[in-house]
Amino acid sequence: MHRKFDKTTTHERRDAITYAAIRRWDNEDPLRHRREEFDLPGGVIYLDGNSLGPLPKATRSRMDEVLTKEWGQGLIRSWNTHDWIDAPLRVGDKIAKLIGARSGEVVVADSTSVNLFKLIGAALAARPDRCVVLSEPGNFPTDLYMAEGVIGTRNCAAQLRLEPADRIIDSIDSNTALVVLTHVHYKTAAIHDMRAITAKAHEHGALVIWDLSHSAGAMDIDLNGCNVDMAVGCGYKYLNGGPGAPAYLFVAERLHAQIASPLKGWMGHLRPFEFEDRYAPAPGIRRFLCGTPSILGLLSLEVGVDLMLRCRMQDIVQKSRWLSELFVDLVADICPTLELVSPTNVLERGSHVSLAHPDGYCIMQALIERGVIGDFRAPNLLRFGFTPLYLRYQDVWDAAYTLSDVVHSGCWADPRYAVRAAVT
Ligand SMILES: *Cc1c(COP(=O)(O)O)cnc(C)c1O
Repeated sequence: MHRKFDKTTTHERRDAITYAAIRRWDNEDPLRHRREEFDLPGGVIYLDGNSLGPLPKATRSRMDEVLTKEWGQGLIRSWNTHDWIDAPLRVGDKIAKLIGARSGEVVVADSTSVNLFKLIGAALAARPDRCVVLSEPGNFPTDLYMAEGVIGTRNCAAQLRLEPADRIIDSIDSNTALVVLTHVHYKTAAIHDMRAITAKAHEHGALVIWDLSHSAGAMDIDLNGCNVDMAVGCGYKYLNGGPGAPAYLFVAERLHAQIASPLKGWMGHLRPFEFEDRYAPAPGIRRFLCGTPSILGLLSLEVGVDLMLRCRMQDIVQKSRWLSELFVDLVADICPTLELVSPTNVLERGSHVSLAHPDGYCIMQALIERGVIGDFRAPNLLRFGFTPLYLRYQDVWDAAYTLSDVVHSGCWADPRYAVRAAVT
C-alpha cells in the first residue's frame, strides 16, 4: 500500500518522496492501465481534466459507429431501433451509480445552466410562501445568474441571498425556500458538508440543490445517503463526455410527483407523440426533459461514464487524494512562493488544487507552453486538476518541477505570455 499517509511527520514524509518511490507508486496503482484507454497527446501533462476531460479511445470508435450506422444508415428509424429515445434515462441511470442515486432519479439533458434553471424554478414553485434562495458569494457564476434569472421570471418577493460558506448553515431559516450550492468550489476546491447543510435545510422545510460539476467522477457522493432533494452536474469534466457534452440532473424519487419543470418542453410530456395542445408532465424523472436530446453528445458521454463505471470508486477517490497531496507537498518544498488557497487538509478539498500568484496568468501560459496544462481563474489563481484515471504520480512530480522552473527562471515575464485569450 501507499505509505505516504501513515503517521510520519511532515519532515519525514518529504524525505520519503523520491522519484524512485514515485515510480513504484505508479507500478502499484490499481488504475494504472486506465491511462491506455485515453487518446492523450504526447509531451503533455494534462492537469485540466476537471475542466475538459480528454478523449477516450472508445469514443472515437463509438462515434464512428453512431455516425455511420445509427445516423447514416438508420436515419430517423434509430430513435426506435437504436433506442435513442431512452438514451437520456439510460445514461442517467449509469451516472446515478456514480453519485449515490437510484435508477430513475437521474436524467441527462441540456446544459448544467439550463438544468439549474429548471430545478430552481421547480423548487420555488414548490415553496410558494418563501422568499429566499440562499447561496454563497463566489459560487460558480452560472449558478448565481440562473437563480437571479428564475427569480426575475416570478412575480413574487423572492430574493437571492448570498452568505459566506461558514455562515450558510446558520442562515437557513423558515423563510428559506431553497439552498443552491456547489459541492466542491470551482476555485478553491473547498468541500461543503452536503449532509449537514441538507439536514439543516430540511429541518426548516427548505429544499436543496447541489451542483456536482466539480465532484462527480472524482469523489464519493451519496445523494440518497445525504437525503438530497435535487442536484445537477456537468458531463464534460471528470466524466469525459467531450466538449459541451450534455449535463445531468437528479431529483429524489420522493419529490417526483410534487415538482415539475418550468420549461415544459414536449420531451417531458406524458405522451409526446400524441401531440396534445395541453401540457401534462411525464411521471418520474422524464418530466425534466425539455427538447430533443443531443444524441451525439449523449452517446459520447455514455462512453466516458462506462469507462468510469469499470473502475472502483474507492480507488478513484484514494488516488485523487494521493495525487493532489503529492503535488501540494512538492510545491511547498520546491516552489514556496506560490500560495496554496485550497484547504491544506486533503480531506477538505476536492480533486483540484489552486495556487495564488499575482502573475498567475503569465505563469500558466508559460507552463502550458512547456506541456503542463492547467488553467487560470481570475484574478490570480493557477488551477490544477488531478484526475485519477489517466494521471501518473510521475506526471505530478514532473509538473511540480516544471512549475518550479517556470516560476524561478522568470521566463513567464516574456510579454507574449501576458496576451489574454478569450478562454482562460
Ligand atoms: C463547469 C460548471 C458549470 C458549467 O455549466 P454549463 O452550463 O455547462 O456551462 C456549472 N456549474 C459549475 C459549478 C461548474 O463547475
